[in-house]
Amino acid sequence: MDHPVYQFLFRVFAFVLGASVGSFLNVCIYRWPVDLSINKPRRSFCPQCKRPIPWHQNLPLVSWILLRGRCANCGAKIAFRYFAVELITALLFLAIWQSFPWQLAIAYWIFASLLIVGTFIDLEHFIIPDRVTIGGIIAGVACSVAVPALMETDSRIAAGIRSLLAAALGYVILWIVLEAGKIAFGRKRIEFDAPTPFAWTKRGDDADLVVGNEESLWSDYFAREKDRLLLECGEARIDHHTYGDVTLNFRYDRVTAEGHVYMLDDVTQISGVARELVIPREAMGRGDLKFLAAIGAFLSWRAMLFSLFAGSLLGSVVGLITLVVGKRVWSAKLPFGPYLAFGAVSWMFFGNLFLRWYTGLVAP
Ligand SMILES: [Zn+2]
Repeated sequence: MDHPVYQFLFRVFAFVLGASVGSFLNVCIYRWPVDLSINKPRRSFCPQCKRPIPWHQNLPLVSWILLRGRCANCGAKIAFRYFAVELITALLFLAIWQSFPWQLAIAYWIFASLLIVGTFIDLEHFIIPDRVTIGGIIAGVACSVAVPALMETDSRIAAGIRSLLAAALGYVILWIVLEAGKIAFGRKRIEFDAPTPFAWTKRGDDADLVVGNEESLWSDYFAREKDRLLLECGEARIDHHTYGDVTLNFRYDRVTAEGHVYMLDDVTQISGVARELVIPREAMGRGDLKFLAAIGAFLSWRAMLFSLFAGSLLGSVVGLITLVVGKRVWSAKLPFGPYLAFGAVSWMFFGNLFLRWYTGLVAP
């Protein structure tokens, strides 16, 4: 088995398996957030013309290149994401195979697949579905019992308990961070340089809020019932009522102006000129808590803490750079899942190196 030819064949197998799994992950990334079943319809179909894609046009990596990223039927562009997910999965599967004994490698393949699905769904939809997070916690505990080496022990019982504890710890720590963050940065005040026109317009069950050139969805601002959004206005109009200098005090379903309460259900348009805006801000979603718990279930508590710190550090740096460079506007949401996933993958490959460096630093 140690013969170079076998080694080469196993590497090719790991890469091809990764590309095929990546192709399946693309289906999960596309369908899970919109709640289509994975098996119905059984075949992959073109997102544009909905025509099923025959197997010979659905070969991972190869087809995307041969068809130059277009649907063979209608010519619609197939997003580069499909190719990227297949390539990333293939490379990660190969790297994992190269770096770990086979039992660990299989567990890490499952884990890496969950990280990839969580990352790409979060990037696109700003959520991480329970199938990824809660499914990941269950898979992590199960893998730890099956491969106790994941938790650095020989005992299956100890591995299961460590895995569960790491998951619980991850959830609780991030929950505390989240609650503390709400107290510290729960609200965000934006002062405008000049009086800025705004308009709130109802659209179906939701509404559009346009402030200056920035347009956003009303429901995006509110996570909890008690969240408030304040608009300091030079003048404001709520349907036919006009106000001069006024502070509009919004909840998700109502607005108060000079003591008068309007239910937003009965209002069609609010407009005026604003000087200052205070928005409620949710730093992270609940999905991130469960995602970090899943990382703990697979990699144990040290890796969970490392992922949290590495992810927060990278997230702040990227957030700051994009804001300074001007690629991001203040109302933009930031997904946290991809940063946690980055931290987890870094630990998988370099955790031991980091530990040795760290312990050398603490106790030389
Ligand atoms: Zn098509």
